[in-house]
Amino acid sequence: MSVDVRAWTKSIEQWYLRAARDLPWRARRTPWRSLVSEFMLQQTQVARVLERFEPFMDRYPHPCDLATADEQEVLALWQGLGYYRRARNLQQAAQVIVRDFDGEVPLDVPSLLTLPGVGRYTAGSIASIVGGERVPIVDGNVTRLLARLHCDDGRPEDRAYIKQTWQRAESFVSQCDRPAVLNEGMMELGALVCTPKAPQCDACPLRSKCGAWEAGRVAEVPPPKQPTRRSVLHHHAVVIRRGDLVLLERRGDSGLWAGLWQAPSIEGDRKLSTDAVRSKLAYEVEGISRVGMLTRTLTHRTVHIYVHVATSCSDIENAVDKGVQWVSMGDLASIPLSNAAMAVLNFQP
Ligand code: SF4
Repeated sequence: MSVDVRAWTKSIEQWYLRAARDLPWRARRTPWRSLVSEFMLQQTQVARVLERFEPFMDRYPHPCDLATADEQEVLALWQGLGYYRRARNLQQAAQVIVRDFDGEVPLDVPSLLTLPGVGRYTAGSIASIVGGERVPIVDGNVTRLLARLHCDDGRPEDRAYIKQTWQRAESFVSQCDRPAVLNEGMMELGALVCTPKAPQCDACPLRSKCGAWEAGRVAEVPPPKQPTRRSVLHHHAVVIRRGDLVLLERRGDSGLWAGLWQAPSIEGDRKLSTDAVRSKLAYEVEGISRVGMLTRTLTHRTVHIYVHVATSCSDIENAVDKGVQWVSMGDLASIPLSNAAMAVLNFQP
């Protein structure tokens, strides 16, 4: 089929103005709210971001508020969104905004790219959607949509293909009426209609202009991702309670779930016996038993977490000296915990 980019962009813009979801960062758009929403939305579902966005904005309504905030408090407010590195990057970005841009989020791509955690996609998103600049954006949704429109079954992870996708997005944005509407429209169409599985072609405004649909190849384009090779980790968590209190330790400052809190744990490359877990813990526990297992699949790792309970910690004063603390179960929301650590604490055999 012939490629008519101008016709595609017009249909996408018209559809978006009709069908866009009413989301809080769209309803009241400021550069800072948009930047925060972009950080939160990276690799996280909209439904989860909706729960966290306004409480975070209430606490940090301006970059200055986040720049000077206590990191542990920031991480606690980020709880549930996962990928805590983004929270740290966002705080560092706020500090750069205060230091280099008088506390105002810049709206041009080169300046945005100087912010920690901001790559080409986020910079393009803020510059086009907030600043109205005619610059492209490419995320997973846009990549899939463009692949299907062009009926191109190149591999989305290939460098040459990524470059070509950016060029296609550039061509779209150069021919559209409103870059902000076009860019948000492409992402929205990919999220709601041209979905990875079971795309709703019957409801799609581009169906009559779609290469994959015309060729009957929607199910084949784009090809499935090559399976990711993940390392396998074995964590052994010990939940120790005293009444309503539970004992927590803080993870180290680097690596997986850096700086977050968890039940005392032993980590390794294989499953350990219960006796081995007890002997390797930094403090004495009694009555330890294994009650089950959780598995978490992360981007580059699979983590098996063997959940144990212990009835007491006989050298608890020594344990507290080692940087652990008793926390009320009712106060867990104010402690930065990974979703996995929270699942361990609430584990039901
Ligand atoms: S017709 Fe189907 S495959 Fe083509 S863009 Fe629309 S939803 Fe995607």
